Amino acid sequence: MNAHDSEKIAGILDTMGLRAAVKEQADIILFNTCCVREHAEKRVFGNLGALLKLKTEKPNLIVAVCGCMMQQEHAVEMIRKKYRHVDIIFGTHNLYKLPELLERAINEKHTLIDIMNTEGMIIEDIPVLREEKFKAWVTIMYGCNNFCSYCIVPHVRGRERSRKPEDIIREIESLAEDGCKEVTLLGQNVNSYGKDLNMEMDFADIVRMVNEIEGIERIRFMTSHPKDISDKLIYTMRDCKKVCEQLHLPFQAGSNKILKRMNRKYTKEEYLNKIFKAKQEIPGVALSTDVIVGFPGETDEDFEETLDVLRRVEFDQVFMFIYSRRIGTSAAEMEDTSSYEDKHRNFEKLVELQNGISKKLNDEYMDKIVEVLAEGSSKNDPSKFTGRTRTGKVVNFTGTDGIIGKLVNVKINEIHSWFLNGQMVDEVKK
Ligand code: SAH
Ligand code: SF4
Repeated sequence: MNAHDSEKIAGILDTMGLRAAVKEQADIILFNTCCVREHAEKRVFGNLGALLKLKTEKPNLIVAVCGCMMQQEHAVEMIRKKYRHVDIIFGTHNLYKLPELLERAINEKHTLIDIMNTEGMIIEDIPVLREEKFKAWVTIMYGCNNFCSYCIVPHVRGRERSRKPEDIIREIESLAEDGCKEVTLLGQNVNSYGKDLNMEMDFADIVRMVNEIEGIERIRFMTSHPKDISDKLIYTMRDCKKVCEQLHLPFQAGSNKILKRMNRKYTKEEYLNKIFKAKQEIPGVALSTDVIVGFPGETDEDFEETLDVLRRVEFDQVFMFIYSRRIGTSAAEMEDTSSYEDKHRNFEKLVELQNGISKKLNDEYMDKIVEVLAEGSSKNDPSKFTGRTRTGKVVNFTGTDGIIGKLVNVKINEIHSWFLNGQMVDEVKK
């Protein structure tokens, strides 16, 4: 979501005639922040501190900070007091005001702060500068109503607001006209799509509509909440040819006691039933999830339940996070007796278990022919191409000129933990 916001910021700046530059030559340096975990916040402060020297040498340089971290009063206060070389601070709800803020910053010499505390209307038609031409993120809804007890997102991104179906479809049609092949539909909980619009249509219906758009060959989406994912969506994934065999379904913790304290509103058993249903209905589906280690009150026994889910489901990929206390969330008030070392030890156990599972699942790709969207040349070896399978695996491969942006069949000949190597066989015929 944040990365997509950055594409919008880049789009606004591009429309104003600004171009990307290396740090030392830039006239504007803008940080788009994230406050979901503490580590990212610390990096922002580190980066801002490091800019002081440059700002002193180039007083006309404009330093701006935006994003969800700025929706928290204490973060804004900290910047105002300790990082006085920052010129503009703005939040997540008023990206569209950037041109006006920049113009004011050129003339006014004090720090401009523009934070909207409540979400306004959805602003359509903000220009987007995408790094890649062949695939695109498309936001279908903003905000979140779930208030998982550890999570800052609902506090900084506001309540759920869905874009109108016609606006989503119009954007995707225009992407397709420009050569885009793959779209990822974005929302904090895509299964709540449309509830605020008082209409019959739900998320699965939107997916079906996107499936009809000519030129689009692949559809992905994130994130689904296990309490809300419906059988209808699973059948839609199964039945719509363009929907990729990939499902990201975060379970966060395996222990029912911890899930309750997290306010996730499902049990381990309910989660397993849903994910096994997806596995059964969607042949070859690749599964991924998010896990939090060391939530307040999590004992080693509770943690065992998380390991148990990993062993039973066999996810292709697990995004693992050590619990990070976020001021303003209800979990921040819970007693947390386990040490950072304890949390870290369990984190390492997760990594070890999952590495084995991911490797085992990747091994099954050996000698198989898979469909890959050729996205560009490989960073490590520019003589090769790179792309992803429908299941989301990165494949580096040898191929022929002119295939970038096309779907090709690739035979896998080498397996690594985080990517696969292969050789192109032919172009996919549609
Ligand atoms: N809306 C999505 C994802 C939100 S944030 C969902 O509900 O799944 C992405 C991930 O960050 C979460 O799934 C969670 O695993 C992690 N996360 C969020 N808050 C966290 C915190 N306080 N500490 C550690 N991890 C956190
Ligand atoms: Fe955060 Fe939960 Fe909303 Fe996801 S569903 S954004 S984890 S509150």
